[in-house]
Amino acid sequence: MKQIAVIGAGTMGNGIAHVFAQHGYSVNLIDINDAALNKGLGTISRNLDRMIAKEKISQAEKDETLARIGRFTSLAEGVKGVQLVVEAATEKVSLKLEIFKELDALCPPDTILATNTSSISITQIAAVTQYPERVIGMHFMNPVPIMKLVEVIRGYNTSDDVLQTTMELSAKVSKIPTEVNDYPGFIANRILMPMINEAIESLYQSVAGVEEIDTVMKLGMAHPMGPLQLADFIGLDVCLSILNVMYEGFKNPKYAPCLLLVNMVTAGKLGVKSGEGFYDYSESRKAERVAKQFQS
Ligand code: NAD
Repeated sequence: MKQIAVIGAGTMGNGIAHVFAQHGYSVNLIDINDAALNKGLGTISRNLDRMIAKEKISQAEKDETLARIGRFTSLAEGVKGVQLVVEAATEKVSLKLEIFKELDALCPPDTILATNTSSISITQIAAVTQYPERVIGMHFMNPVPIMKLVEVIRGYNTSDDVLQTTMELSAKVSKIPTEVNDYPGFIANRILMPMINEAIESLYQSVAGVEEIDTVMKLGMAHPMGPLQLADFIGLDVCLSILNVMYEGFKNPKYAPCLLLVNMVTAGKLGVKSGEGFYDYSESRKAERVAKQFQS
């Protein structure tokens, strides 16, 4: 496997492209427009600079990594000749189904089609393709260049070969793959999102303020980041989508998203990426400080 396509240059897609390119793979980074690609590539460049400052890589390694990443706004052009596609577009069921239908038509049957979805059923995504055995979940954690875990999710029809190759590939890019089965939220978000939702509900009920809630969880539970700050970092829209998928998937009210989260997303307060969530990131430096704090 030499050439990989990554769909989506947002929070996760740029991190996934960064990691594969740094490990010697040619990466075709695909997004809907040049602005999204510029933003994603800018983030990769800044994250590589941070690695140079920490003496983890040299300037030459940065240059080589960036040179391995090609930019595409056409899906058909971007997936030409690749052996693996990792889809990291917006967390929306209809969008993922549309992308996978197109990928199925564009890619030969031996191309592995992976999705970085946080919660959407791999089996449902695979069901729109002709070759569901080559569809798999490859759930990287945020920030991708730092976090070791990849949840590898086996859909109902995923083949043993595709599972094995994906596990091996994850290890080749210095990640630790963990196999899980295909149920809403998989493992990471099934456990994380109810905690974040409960933190938002506690704020909504005025049990404590934003910083107080995060302080309790940081100092009391030794979490590196409080749940509200983590929600800002993940993206409040992403958190809402994941909770909705679990709520609808399990038909269990315990996953119903807190109304405050729904209101904030409706109002466009999406966390770090929009400049405001539970915290204010309006000065760009603030967002960087949060990211740095998480990485240190
Ligand atoms: P994001 O909003 O930061 O980025 C999504 C990107 O997808 C945007 O750049 C958007 O322009 C692009 N996009 C939308 N439609 C597209 C299309 N048709 N073709 C190509 N690109 C398209 O979202 P994100 O946080 O990076 O999430 C991406 C995926 O990763 C989602 O499935 C999400 O659930 C998952 N995920 C997110 C996190 C997290 O912490 N944010 C963690 C793990 C997994």
